[in-house]
Parts: sequence; structure tokens; C-alpha cells
Amino acid sequence: MFSLQNRVALVTGAGRGIGRAIAMALADAGAEVGVTARTASEVAEVVDAIKKAGGKAIAIVADLLDRAAPTTILEQMTAKLGPIDILVNNAGIGSSSDPKPVAEFSDEFWERTLYLNLTVPYKLSKAVLPSMRAKKWGRIINIASINGKMPSLHGAAYAASKHGLLGLTRTLALEIAKEGITVNAICPGPVHTVMNDKRLEYDAKRRGITFEEVEKAMTPIGGRLEPEDVAPLAVYLASNEARMVTGQAYNICGGVLLY
Ligand code: NAP
Repeated sequence: MFSLQNRVALVTGAGRGIGRAIAMALADAGAEVGVTARTASEVAEVVDAIKKAGGKAIAIVADLLDRAAPTTILEQMTAKLGPIDILVNNAGIGSSSDPKPVAEFSDEFWERTLYLNLTVPYKLSKAVLPSMRAKKWGRIINIASINGKMPSLHGAAYAASKHGLLGLTRTLALEIAKEGITVNAICPGPVHTVMNDKRLEYDAKRRGITFEEVEKAMTPIGGRLEPEDVAPLAVYLASNEARMVTGQAYNICGGVLLY
């Protein structure tokens, strides 16, 4: 529906889950996609799937917790595909990796979550700005969460990082509004991925009910979203047609959050 022909996109955390679905959808719309994450086999599988579907993609294996990663990823992208037109900041750590009340929270986990979920999008956004400014065209899409607008029980670092990501989104959007570059966020509700499975397991145990019982009641529509439910909005936000949309934070959440 929307054409992304001649656009170069980078999707972080694209080896599985929401990032994979977004990378596939951007490629399907014509973009050349840099697929990055730590697990080489998953990154390679996504690149293969894109190529099999007739698209163009490259694999970049990198750990975004490595302080040099944003620079090295951008260097590889520019050398192989050219400057980035569309940046999708998707890689993230969920609350379920170490869920605890604030009083017992791990400082190390707090810092790691804030770094990957908020500082890395800030660094990558800053790094792509010069080439986007030169082209007077760019799209930055941050994958936040409904927990960017509401709490995450025993996941303070996650909620704080996603609230922060919306602050970055809105501020940067205003700063560059006149330069042909838009900055928006997508706020998914519970999506059927590895990350969310872990959260459901934790909630089921904490509440003394089954995984299936938690899952069924996750959204007013019922159940969870699939990654493919999120991807079309990213394609729209990346398109020319969305040129007047900036600084927004769109919920896709099965009706969990109604504002
Ligand atoms: P996922 O299935 O766990 O996938 C996360 C992706 O990020 C993987 O490709 C992972 O690959 C990559 N990643 C994790 N740590 C990384 C690191 N240090 N360096 C580079 N890549 C890293 O998670 P998901 O559910 O699709 O989540 C994607 C985004 O959506 C996250 O920002 C998450 O907060 C957000 N979100 C998810 C949900 C949900 O219910 N699933 C809801 C709202 C928002 P490697 O482990 O191989 O590096």
C-alpha cells in the first residue's frame, strides 16, 4: 500500500518478535533493510526470509550494550546500503528478565534497561541526524510500549525507560519538525513474543493462575497481539504519506489503554 522504494532502513532487535515483523514489512514495501541483533542465526534467518520474498537486506550482528555498537552499526550500514533514511529503534529488554519491586530492584538491571531501551535510541537517533538533515528526509520510529504511559508492576526500569523514550520522541520531533524528518513512537500492548512469554509466565506464577488464563484476559479484544499486528503502522509512519505525523505515540494494544 505504501511504497518505501529507494529507502534504506535500519531495524534494531530485528532477529525475532516485533523487530523481525517490522523488518519484513519494510522490505516488503521496498526498503533495503539492515537487520541487527546479537544472535547471528536469527539475524541470518530474517535476512534469508527477506531475500526469499524478493527484498534486499543485510545482516549486522552486534550487541547494543557495547558502547561502540551504534557507531560500528552505522558504519556498516553506510558502507553496504548507504545513509539510513528510516531508523527503527526496537531492541529492548523487558521487565521479565528480573522483575522486582523498586525496594528490591537490581541497580545493575536498572542501568542496563535504561541504557538499552533509552540511551541507545538516543545515540542512534543522534547519529543518523546529519545524513537525514542533508537529505531533508528521515523517519525515526521508536518502539515504546503502553508501559510508556502506564506502570509496569515490578518493572520500574522498563516503565521508566519507555516513559523516557516518549520524552525523547516528542522533544526530538519538535526540534527537527521543519527539516523533513519525523519522529514517532509505537506503543504496543502485550505481543506474543519471547519477551512477553516470560512476562506472562511471571504473572501467572505471581497470581497463582495458568499461563492461558493470564493470556486470555490480557486485552479487551481478547488474548495478545501478534508481531504482524504492529508492523503495518511502522510502514505507514515510514512512508511519504505520513509526512505530517510527528511527535506521536500510537497505542496498538487490543484496547488495553484508551488514551
Ligand atoms: P524479543 O522477542 O525479546 O526480541 C528482542 C530483540 O531485541 C531480539 O532480536 C533481540 O536479539 C534484540 N536484543 C535484545 N538485547 C539486545 C542487545 N543487547 N543488543 C542488540 N539486540 C538486542 O522482544 P519483542 O517483544 O519483540 O520486543 C521488541 C520491542 O518491543 C522492545 O523494545 C519491547 O520493549 C517492545 N515491546 C514489546 C511488547 C511485547 O509484549 N512483546 C510490548 C510493548 C513493547 P538478541 O537477543 O539476539 O540480541
